[in-house]
Formats: sequence, C-alpha cells, structure tokens
Amino acid sequence: MIGGLRITNLSHAFGDEKVVNGVSVFVAPSEVVCLLGPSGCGKTTLLRVAAGLDRLQKGQIRIGETMVDDGATGLNVPPDQRGIGLMFQDYALFPHLNVLENIIFGVKADTPARREWAETALEQMGLSGRGDNYPHTLSGGQQQRVALLRALATEPSVLLLDEPFSGLDVARRAAVRGQSLEMLRDTGVATLLVTHDPEEAMFMADRILVMNHGRVVQDGSPEQIYFQPNTEFVADLFGTVNRLTGTVTSGALATAIGIFDTKDLEYGTMAQVLIRPEAFRLAVVGETPAPRPGDAPFLPAPLVATPSDRGVVVTGARSLGRASLVSFIVPSDNGDVELEARVPGVFLPEPGTRVTVTVNTKQAHVFPVDDNG
Ligand code: ATP
Repeated sequence: MIGGLRITNLSHAFGDEKVVNGVSVFVAPSEVVCLLGPSGCGKTTLLRVAAGLDRLQKGQIRIGETMVDDGATGLNVPPDQRGIGLMFQDYALFPHLNVLENIIFGVKADTPARREWAETALEQMGLSGRGDNYPHTLSGGQQQRVALLRALATEPSVLLLDEPFSGLDVARRAAVRGQSLEMLRDTGVATLLVTHDPEEAMFMADRILVMNHGRVVQDGSPEQIYFQPNTEFVADLFGTVNRLTGTVTSGALATAIGIFDTKDLEYGTMAQVLIRPEAFRLAVVGETPAPRPGDAPFLPAPLVATPSDRGVVVTGARSLGRASLVSFIVPSDNGDVELEARVPGVFLPEPGTRVTVTVNTKQAHVFPVDDNG
C-alpha cells in the first residue's frame, strides 16, 4: 500500500536498558493507531525515533514507500525531510505570533490556498474568527487545537502525537478529542498517537497496540482490546477489576458466582477470572431486576448467575450520580472475597442486604494465575 507509516522490528536501548524491543507498527493513511501502555514502557521513545528526533539503532522506518531510517545501512533522513507532523505533550505555541501565523509557521509556500485551508480548519475546530488572536488569550483547549493545526499545516502524510490531550481537564478533553478526530479523518493523514489513557485510546483509535516493557503485547481494534484481552495485563489496563481464583476442572472454573468457560486451559491449572465492575447485574433477593437503560446490548450475552438463590451479602453502596458502586462478599478458595459492581442509575441496598448476582461473561476473562503479560 502506498502511504502510511511502517516501523519494522525497531529496538532501542539507553545504555544497558532495552526500552523498545522488536516492535513493528503499520499505520495506513486515514488510520489512527494508538500506542497504549503504562509509563516507561517505551511509547515516547518509539515515537521520537519515528520522528527522527532520536537516532534509530535497530530496525527500519518507511514513510509511504520511502525508507527514512535503516539500521542496517545507517540511512537516517532528518526530521524536517520526513514529511511528518509532530505534536508533543509540551507543545508550545509561539507567543509572539498570532493564531494564523502559528499555524502556517512551518509551511514552506505560504500561499493564499494554504491560508484559506487554515481559516477553514479553524472554523472546523470551533475557532472561527480567532486567527488574529495571540496564544495567551486562548484557553488550554483552544491552544491545543491550534497546535494540532500547526502540525497538520505542512500537509504531512504521517502525524505523530504524544499525549496531545493530557494537559486538558476532563470536560475539555472530550470536546477537543472529538474535533481533533474529525480533523484527522478529513485530512487522511496516518496518525500514530501515544497515550497511557485507555479511554482516550478507545475513543481515538482504529487500532490499539498495547505495549509493556518495550514490546507490543496485543494489537487489535478497541473492542478486541476491551472484550478479548489476551492477558491479565491487558484486562487490567481499564481500571479496577474483580478477581476470583480457583482450579480448572474439565474446561471450567467454578466460583461462588458461577461457572466460567476456561477455553483451552489444562485440567488442574490455577486460574483466575477477572470481572469488570460493570459486568455485574444485581437484584435484591426475591425481587426481579428492573430493566435498565444499558441492559439491552447485554442481554444476548451469556450470563452466569449465583448458584444459590439466597444471594450474597452487600457490604456497602455508594452513588456516583449516574451509576452506583455496590460491594458484596462472596466465598472463594482463599476465604471470603469482596467484589465491586458498578451498576447504572441509583441502586443503594443497605449493608447486609442479600442480592443475587449475574455476570455478563463478555466482560469476564479467565487467565492462568501466573500470567502477567
Ligand atoms: P511516559 O508515558 O511516562 O512518557 P513512555 O512509555 O513514553 O512513558 P519512554 O519515555 O519511552 O516511556 O521511556 C522508556 C524508558 O526509557 C524509561 O525507563 C525512561 O526512563 C528511559 N529513557 C527515556 N529517554 C531516555 C534518555 N534520553 N536517556 C536515558 N533513558 C531514557
């Protein structure tokens, strides 16, 4: 395929510390690929090498059909000749240039057509009429959008973004992400975005590459990463998960809240089921759970239920406004375990109430106990 970014078998070390280890990434034109992983897993290093800011040590990088880095031959095209746009976390607009001048700063041929593009793009980003403003008169979110347009103004075929939204507060981040994504789709640029925020990756990405210790541990669509995590590490990325352990018998893991399919795990393996808080449905014993908004897509998923209709005992419940967090105790191999459910709406049973539990098995994942990704 013509266009896009292809990183092949890239490895990078600082002294004795190997921080990127044989990573390959392909980003097609118009595609947004997110590198997602914890701090220190090598995401920024990979991006900096792709940008040409750090000298490649091992591997190859192609932009479109053009090789820009080759560890074998020492080929190394300087950053400004790669046809890439860059935006890092600490992007800074030039304070002495107005918005329009900031955007077209790097454009070689400052043509009327380019200025027209900038005006239209500002409009699309909700900044119409702001071209003459100076950066200090803009909010953080507005500055971020200008910085993105500056990175796109040179018509790069590849855009590299490192935590571009991390400086913004939660409310602003959502709006800026949405507008930025639309802009990226319109330009057809191949975007590689680094983030440690799984929600951001889910929102922005066509494909997510999860990294840990310098390696890609899973590569898939946001839905695959969320619903089919291949390791405990990936399942854990999305925040609190509940864990129940046990021993696999004939393809199944029996727990106090149901029997889970263990796929190909061998008989006798110590296994754990990781259940997301939103996978639970609770009902006070003797009452039928009220249908709730949000239930509908869950219903076709197979559910496993508490084997006993006596239910389990609630230990606490807190309202988060839109949802409620309810903790309850279940017996397990290692004694009682407290689990936490996140249920939509207001559901605040008193401590001591008995509730029945059903689990959406699409959000429950079984792994061997020693599997750390
Ligand atoms: P974060 O999300 O915190 O930015 P990251 O996944 O982007 O993390 P990197 O910034 O790529 O991780 O860093 C990977 C490892 O390489 C870290 O252990 C870091 O300390 C180390 N490192 C990064 N840059 C350098 C450098 N210039 N010299 C020495 N070590 C470095």
